[in-house]
Amino acid sequence: MDVRRKGGAPVLEVKKENGVTFLSFPLLERTGLVKHAFSTRLGGVSQGDFATMNFSFTRGDDREAVLENYSRMAGALGVCRERMVLTWQTHTTNVRRVYVGDAGKGIVRERDYRDVDGLITDIPGMTLVTFFADCVPLYFLDPVHKAIGLSHSGWRGTVRRMGAVTISEMERAFGTRPNEVLACVGPSICKDCYEVGDDVAGEFEAAFSAAACARMLTPKKNKKFFLDLWEANRTVLLEAGVREDHLSVTDICTYCNPGLLFSHRRSAERRGNLCAFLSLI
Ligand SMILES: [Zn+2]
Repeated sequence: MDVRRKGGAPVLEVKKENGVTFLSFPLLERTGLVKHAFSTRLGGVSQGDFATMNFSFTRGDDREAVLENYSRMAGALGVCRERMVLTWQTHTTNVRRVYVGDAGKGIVRERDYRDVDGLITDIPGMTLVTFFADCVPLYFLDPVHKAIGLSHSGWRGTVRRMGAVTISEMERAFGTRPNEVLACVGPSICKDCYEVGDDVAGEFEAAFSAAACARMLTPKKNKKFFLDLWEANRTVLLEAGVREDHLSVTDICTYCNPGLLFSHRRSAERRGNLCAFLSLI
């Protein structure tokens, strides 16, 4: 599989287990404390625009196919599908603490919550699951208190500092200290593929310093900008107290890799959803 990457030395590893291809951060993997993945389009059973590894039940795909995709990913990761817990993403900064009683919510049981864009837990074996097709996945591991977090940070979530909100929720729940957290900014749209209007750029200018905005926003003609969500989320995490050597930022863009990943910017509604998965061992 040909993967288009940004930057120098490769960051993400491409893995294949049980016929399922997924992406993995060595920063998390080498701790031995978690199982994690960012899915690709490869290894599932969905057809057409959803081919082949779609995790959305609400975009028109066959329910049985989606359930089979979850089973295959669970098998590839060595986790239990019935103990996965899904978000209900609406571009909020709401973070929900996951307990044993939440097992299977969103897959094999109805969710009794909505408007949740981040999940945290300290319970081994509970797999947190979040959805993507260009927006930014944020993975968190507190190796000291053995706790994890997984968040969805699109441009709205980034402006509202979803990364910092997730860490402070982990701090409240588990005693997590920001300088001990390992954090990963996952596969999402890169700065060369993400054009935004001056309305979106204005929100970033209101939320971040001029120096930070100079790194995140590249002006184009006609009041358009290229927005660097990777840099913006990196900034949010560093400002929140994450150490630079505890931080890993994706080098793989969802838009640049149509054979490998789904992209909303590229395909609009004719696409499936990717997922991030994170579980304490
Ligand atoms: Zn790109």
